[in-house]
Amino acid sequence: MHVRKTWKTTVVMFLAVAAVTTVTAAFYFNYAATACCTVAPLSSSSLLQEPSNAAAADNELSRSKLVSSAVRISKLYAVCETRDHLRSPADRDRFSRRRRQADDSTSVNVDKNAGNNYSKNGESETARDGDIGNDTALIYFITPTYPRREQIPELTRLGQTLMHVSRLYWIVADDRPDCSLQIMNLLPDFSIPYTYIASPMPSIYKRDPDAMPRGVSNRRAALNWIRLNHNINDSNAVIYFGDDDNTFHLDLFKEIRTTKKISMFPVGLVGEYGVSSPIIDKGKVVGFFDSWPAKRKFPVDMAGFAINVQLLFKYPYATMPYKVGFEEDRFLSALGIRLDEIEPKAENCTRILVWHTQTAKKPKPIVMVRSKATLPGSLATLLDQVTMLGIGGVYAVI
Ligand code: UDP
Ligand code: MN
Repeated sequence: MHVRKTWKTTVVMFLAVAAVTTVTAAFYFNYAATACCTVAPLSSSSLLQEPSNAAAADNELSRSKLVSSAVRISKLYAVCETRDHLRSPADRDRFSRRRRQADDSTSVNVDKNAGNNYSKNGESETARDGDIGNDTALIYFITPTYPRREQIPELTRLGQTLMHVSRLYWIVADDRPDCSLQIMNLLPDFSIPYTYIASPMPSIYKRDPDAMPRGVSNRRAALNWIRLNHNINDSNAVIYFGDDDNTFHLDLFKEIRTTKKISMFPVGLVGEYGVSSPIIDKGKVVGFFDSWPAKRKFPVDMAGFAINVQLLFKYPYATMPYKVGFEEDRFLSALGIRLDEIEPKAENCTRILVWHTQTAKKPKPIVMVRSKATLPGSLATLLDQVTMLGIGGVYAVI
């Protein structure tokens, strides 16, 4: 009896130790992968997503030659592509001409100091931020995104908003293990300097689809990319998280650009109150108006704050936790922010310049056709696009 009990105890202890080790290893992996980020060269083709049929593949391959591929990978993320200096009208014209010439295989040099050395002619003519010079802070606009039917239209709409903003560097961080050719084809259209990263959510966080830390792995990757690529001595910069489905008034960029440490402002269409915002009295934050306080020190939406890049270097291990609902709060706490340091923006938090809009998701339709060969005119080619973009399925009965 005693012997059996001891045997049982040993087994239980062994299992407990194994469980603790596994959990520790899982957390260590996430932490280590975030903190380290050694990048090793890797061929771009091994990370590119395969187009879904031969015709599309031909089309994609010739187009993909136009895309500068600087694929680097760490345990956590792949840098699919980095593009800088595309802001002058001359650059834009040159680039669109290149896109039209399908046989052009020129690749664009990758600037290792991405985001640091913008020239005056890097300003957009249409920018609404006024005549701003090089001493003006750069905005790193981090967009987590993930593969779904609506991904390309969401990024198209967002890119066309960001086109109007000067000195903005777009980090598109995709929740997937590989790089999407469709997105690599799309991003140059906006003439915005950008980096496209692929960083999938670790599978341990996907167990409960209703409680997934959405956009965390990719935001963490983007933060690490900034830590590796931004030279704090060269340029001042502000970091903002802009989801792919949100809506941004151009005045928002004027507001956040002057962030010294941490700025906050209202976000419309959040929660049960219709808005989430700090409450301001005499220029200081005196509380928060948010329908889900949840004992958070900073009950704010992801789109409701901006930080100065210096904080990332002051707190080199601070990152966003995989904790649903507490991503903002724990991230801001890890950056050592005090309530009295918050800089209120948007007319003392009385204007809504960003909206937490959400796109309705509909199931993917399947189109049945008798035979692809007998489809009239342009239809077969159009339906190939539908398949390739994943917006619908096409099945030939014969
Ligand atoms: N997102 C992601 N992976 C996912 C789900 C979402 O990267 O599995 C991104 C998404 O593209 C968006 C952000 O994370 O930019 C927030 O996700 P979502 O819009 O679904 O959340 P909600 O607005 O409903 O809070
Ligand atoms: Mn959203």
